[in-house]
Amino acid sequence: MSEQGGLRIGVDVGGTKIAAGIVDGDGVIHRSARRSTPDAPDIPAAIAELVAEVADGETVAGVGIGAAGFISADRLTVLTAPNIDWNDATLGQDVARLLDVPVVVENDANAAAWGEYRFGAGRGTHHMLAVTVGTGVGGGLVVGGQLVRGAHGIAAEVGHVRFERNGLLCGCGLHGCLEQYASGTALVRRAQGRLTSADGGPVSGPEITRLVIAGDPEACDLLAEFGRDLGEGIATLVAVLDPEVVVIGGGVAEAGDLLLDPVREGLAASITGGTDRPGPRVVAAELGNEAGLVGASDLAGIPVGRPSDVHA
Ligand SMILES: [Zn+2]
Repeated sequence: MSEQGGLRIGVDVGGTKIAAGIVDGDGVIHRSARRSTPDAPDIPAAIAELVAEVADGETVAGVGIGAAGFISADRLTVLTAPNIDWNDATLGQDVARLLDVPVVVENDANAAAWGEYRFGAGRGTHHMLAVTVGTGVGGGLVVGGQLVRGAHGIAAEVGHVRFERNGLLCGCGLHGCLEQYASGTALVRRAQGRLTSADGGPVSGPEITRLVIAGDPEACDLLAEFGRDLGEGIATLVAVLDPEVVVIGGGVAEAGDLLLDPVREGLAASITGGTDRPGPRVVAAELGNEAGLVGASDLAGIPVGRPSDVHA
């Protein structure tokens, strides 16, 4: 399990839990642990404890942390976060001080995209767009084999491209963001009045997926409309980015082609150049909830600003 120079450990910090795991050079998790997310000031210590627990006395070479928030361009500071009371938190420095090892912090969706690029549905490509359909719509972008982070570290916020002018108010403060129409939360909202759960109440996301897989016609129609909207939103991104592959992840993607086929339809109907141009493949993510942890650990081996193709 031990690699030359020590273990590489990935950490995934979410609003409710923190997970840490030893990840090898093939993206396989060997030992992991998790705990609930404490208040922001206690997060560095919680991460250090989890890392020590999974390392179990072996030397740690580096720690990569995927965190839900805007991360500074130097990959050390959490500028702001949607679900944790974090502002200009020196997460990377704090964890590095506690563990005395190099630490890299990356946005969780970027880390997950990198995991899929290196070890999942994007492997073998050079231009990949990842779209994660969960509570919100997240994403990540790899161009020419490099994770695109933008000038300030906050690129690839794909859920906040405008889908509807003067549309629904988004958590980001703007109106009409794609996230308000094509997230798991939006799917549940769209189901209100159309689908009911077994107990007569509103349906949850997983229930909708179950109804779709069971062939419920209304649920299938709903998911198809939702998927076409998502595909239309993705077409906007494809017009700019021209990726080889679009990797769709998140809970809703568990419906597989029942979701992906409408996404492909929506994309084909809205892509610039129509059928006269080559377009991207649209595929399901492969690493599930582990993508962020795996991607973060891999990024711990890539110095900021250095081309990632040193891995190739
Ligand atoms: Zn928004």
